[in-house]
Amino acid sequence: MIVVMKIGSSQGEIGGVVKRIEEAGLKAHLSQGVERTVIGILGRTFSELQDMLQLLPGVEEVIPVSKPYKLASREFHPERTIVKLNDLTIGGNDIVIMAGPCAVENEEQLMATAWEVKSAGANILRGGAFKPSTSPYHFRGLGLEGLKILAKAREETGMPVVTEVMAPGDVELVASYADILQVGARNMQNFALLDEVGKLKKPVMLKRGLSATIQEWLLAAEYILNQGNEQLILCERGIRTFETATRNTMDLSAIPIIKKLSHLPIVADPSHGTGKWYLVSPMALAAVAAGADGLMIEVHPNPDTALKDGPQSLTFDNFRRLMSQLAPVVRAVDRKLSLRGALATKQSQGRTE
Ligand code: PEP
Ligand code: MN
Repeated sequence: MIVVMKIGSSQGEIGGVVKRIEEAGLKAHLSQGVERTVIGILGRTFSELQDMLQLLPGVEEVIPVSKPYKLASREFHPERTIVKLNDLTIGGNDIVIMAGPCAVENEEQLMATAWEVKSAGANILRGGAFKPSTSPYHFRGLGLEGLKILAKAREETGMPVVTEVMAPGDVELVASYADILQVGARNMQNFALLDEVGKLKKPVMLKRGLSATIQEWLLAAEYILNQGNEQLILCERGIRTFETATRNTMDLSAIPIIKKLSHLPIVADPSHGTGKWYLVSPMALAAVAAGADGLMIEVHPNPDTALKDGPQSLTFDNFRRLMSQLAPVVRAVDRKLSLRGALATKQSQGRTE
């Protein structure tokens, strides 16, 4: 249930509604918009409450919310969430580009990729240190050493980094190195992990589960929001279907659906969404046209020898080509490519941009 306050309702009137909600043993969530305040009610509501609240001064309307997720819904939170990271914003008018290898393999590989994607216009460096792996015999990441290499790349290039956290017990460690913590597709319903990243005061990026519905995905987001972390980004990375021509089926419709149902920013990952490097650019362009707030792209100095996800990784040249193809599409949807991060000041000795 949400309580829509009248335009110009006073702090006292808002406080009165909150008090009545709390007296009923429920939690109130305030969303203060430019024009009016919307108060969401968390917990089991009952129909008498609607009648009761309707009578309070300053109340315009009390609307029952049918969706099982509340904090993630646009009804509860009509204003779009803009995630802030230093001077970068995700979910506003700018389109942000996260790029880098699937996995951090060594310092040389990450540094070369970081400088390259930065000069091509990427804003955020990606790279996995803790890698989820379907087979226990495949590369599972460098762990702590990988985090240290990421931190070094940030130090030298000035790019913020996004990296995955797989276990609740690793959240503190990963958060001490990363700027954005990624919850991967395989962990979308790891509820202990969601609770833990929900306690952070850092942005989190929640990827859609391999076979998760939009509702299940938004309920997973609800776990994080419910712990108090509102710096949350969603990432569509393809879902499992009967189709075998692609690794996953990139669900482009998820982008406008999420925009309709939720206030959270959404980024598209056409690398995992397709599994094939030559499908990455067309789907990246389509995702931006569909309203994505950003892209996550896997880039590797030499995809043929990559320890992970080589077939879907772009070469440096292909990444540059994608960045130039993006410009007219971004303009067509009346947005712009973020210049932040890419223009960050700190540069290693001898490097010129
Ligand atoms: C990744 O980003 O490298 C990754 C493992 O993604 P996903 O969880 O979407 O498979
Ligand atoms: Mn990958």
